[in-house]
Formats: sequence, structure tokens, C-alpha cells
Amino acid sequence: MKPDIKQKIENLLNFANLRRTGPRAAVLSVLLGARKPQTAHQIAAKLSHITPNKVTIYRTLESFLAAGLVHKAFLQQRCWHFELSHNCTKNQCHPHFTCTNCGDVYCLTEKQMPMAKSPYKGFIISHQRIQLEGLCPKCNSNLQLTNSHKQM
Ligand SMILES: [Zn+2]
Ligand SMILES: [Zn+2]
Repeated sequence: MKPDIKQKIENLLNFANLRRTGPRAAVLSVLLGARKPQTAHQIAAKLSHITPNKVTIYRTLESFLAAGLVHKAFLQQRCWHFELSHNCTKNQCHPHFTCTNCGDVYCLTEKQMPMAKSPYKGFIISHQRIQLEGLCPKCNSNLQLTNSHKQM
């Protein structure tokens, strides 16, 4: 494990007031290295050589969830994904963008969307989950290339 990753894990656990254990450090190292949200299954698969017990991984994720260290992102695949909290509040986590062409998921960790107001009297909004869809920059520029070829 790289020293800077080790330090980051130390900081996250301190922040969450959690004792350092092998499985906790291992799950955090996966999440720190992940570019996009991971399912518990994906995390467990990556750690099968260190922590063969999947239940330990699930419990670790639950403890991170309770501590606010991770949150659940509900993506297209209809299955919960876990990731580190970035700019997340009690009411809202950062938005996710799914490319409809390549299926890649992007965490828009720098963005925070204004909270929606209740559209009807009597409804109280407690949580907002923003899921954006469209073309990623890669697919968008490929598409433009294809179109300009057609025009020629
Ligand atoms: Zn794409
Ligand atoms: Zn995310």
C-alpha cells in the first residue's frame, strides 16, 4: 500500500471515529482507488485474497455508512453502489452522470444542486438524488467526428 493511501485511510478513520481494522483499511483502499461507485459485490471480489469473508465486507460498509464515511449511490443497474462521501449532506449526495452510449458512470463530486422545493402542499422532501444521463465528453466528441464525416 502506498504511503499516501495509508495516510488517507488513517485520516478517514480518524474523521469517522472508527478504530483501524484490517478489513476497514482494505475496503477504504478499494474505495479510494475507485473512479466510480462500487457494489458491495465488486468490493468483496477485489478483496477476496485478503478478506475472504463477504459478510465482513458488508458489515464494514454498514459501519462506514453509519459514520457518514460512505454513501449509497443508486445507479442504473438497480443495485446499491458504495463510494466515499464527497460534498454530501444529510439531504443530498453529489449527482451522478451516466453516459447512455458507453454506460460509464461519472461522480460529479464538485457539484451540488439546489434542493427542490415541495411541488405540492403536504409533501415534505427529505432527500434528493440526482441522476443525470446523456453523452460523456468522449462519446460526444466521437459522435461529432462521425457526423462531420457524413457531411463531407
Ligand atoms: Zn460515453
Ligand atoms: Zn459518486
